[in-house]
Order: sequence, then C-alpha cells, then structure tokens
Amino acid sequence: MTEPVGPPDHDEAHGGALGSRLNWLRAAVLGANDGVVSTAGLVVGVAGATDDRTALLTAGLAGLLAGSLSMAAGEYVSVSTQRDSEKAAISLEKRELREQPEAELEELTGLLEQRGLSREVAREAAEQLTARDALRAHARVELGIDPDDLTNPWHAAWASFLAFTAGALLPLLAMVLPPAAWRVPVTVVSVLAALALTGWSSARLGDAAVRRAIWRNMGGGAVAMAVTYAAGSLLGAVAG
Ligand SMILES: [Zn+2]
Repeated sequence: MTEPVGPPDHDEAHGGALGSRLNWLRAAVLGANDGVVSTAGLVVGVAGATDDRTALLTAGLAGLLAGSLSMAAGEYVSVSTQRDSEKAAISLEKRELREQPEAELEELTGLLEQRGLSREVAREAAEQLTARDALRAHARVELGIDPDDLTNPWHAAWASFLAFTAGALLPLLAMVLPPAAWRVPVTVVSVLAALALTGWSSARLGDAAVRRAIWRNMGGGAVAMAVTYAAGSLLGAVAG
C-alpha cells in the first residue's frame, strides 16, 4: 500500500471558485486599505503645512490617481507574468501529451495515487480523465490551474484601481469637505474607523485573530498620519 505523501496541496484545496472569489475579496480589501492609509498620510501631511483647500484637494487627488494607477499597473504586470508562465506550462504539457502519452498517463496515475487513491482506482481514474480531456486533467491535477479560467490581467488591474480609489476617497473627502478647524480631527477619526473595518475584514477573510489585526491596522495608519503631520507642520513652520 502506498500512503498519501504529505498534506494535500494547499493551493489546490482552495483553488476552486470559492477560493478565487476569496482571493479577489482579500485583494480588494488590501487595495482599499492602501488607498486609505497612503492618501490619509498625504492629506494630513499637507494639512500640517497649509489651510489652503485647493492645495489639499490637489495633493489628495494627485495621490489618489498616482496610487490607483500604480497599483493597477503593478497588478497588470504581475498577473500578465503569471498568465504567461501558466500558458507556457500548458503548452509544454500539450507537447508532452502528444509525444509521450503513456508516460503522461503513468504520471497522472502517480499524482492521483499521492492524493490517496489506490493504485488500481488511480489508474482507472487517470484513464477516464485522459479519455475525456487529457490536457485539462493534467492542468488541474499537475499544475493546479484551469486552462479555461486563467486570471485576466485587465480585470485584475481594474479591480485594484477601483479598490484603491474607493479607499482613497474617504480621507480626501474628510479633508476637503469640513471647515478648516475640523479637517484633521474628522480625517483622523474616519480613517481610524475605516482601518478598523478593513482590519476586521482581512482578518475574517484570512482566518486570523480579529482584535489584533484591527489594532495593528489602526496603529499603522495612526503612525503614518502622525509622521506626515509632524513633517508637514515642520515644513510649514520653516517655509511659512
Ligand atoms: Zn503531465
């Protein structure tokens, strides 16, 4: 008897539709969190130096666009690269299936055996999978990808653009809408509330300790705002 080797492939276990939906949700929460923290740091820093609403609006908007575009570009590049390597792996698999079908059948049998099937059942399953759609079977079992459902780099880019923008709008509006005396306190309070929410969501999505994730996330944002506010105040005092 062959015992299953090691724990089941973790990526594969979460590789279904639910897994990929969770990954998207997690990426959206992280993107929004980034938008909140970086834009909050930016506008609070400028508010330390000046009361000028146009300057605050310009800085906040430029920060929003720069951040969301850079996130989108980064996501586009990384997903494209991943997609290229998945396509290369699939076409290599295609060639192997054409040139050495017997070895490939044996390979698939071995992989199914490793997942806990007996030799005979694994062989039978491998034969059936190969008869139906050999390439798809190898892509899923061997590479852990679905050849018909590769991530689209444009979708990924749009998703991070929108997530970052949604996050960035909060500190931007909190800074430019209230009267001058209220700007910084309103921004700080709403940013900390938003970071509690994103910290809570990402902890829930990642099965992590909720309270610790919330404090950590709020702490990070608080430090970012304190540092930029101090820098802005210093610069405002020196330059003004
Ligand atoms: Zn193969």
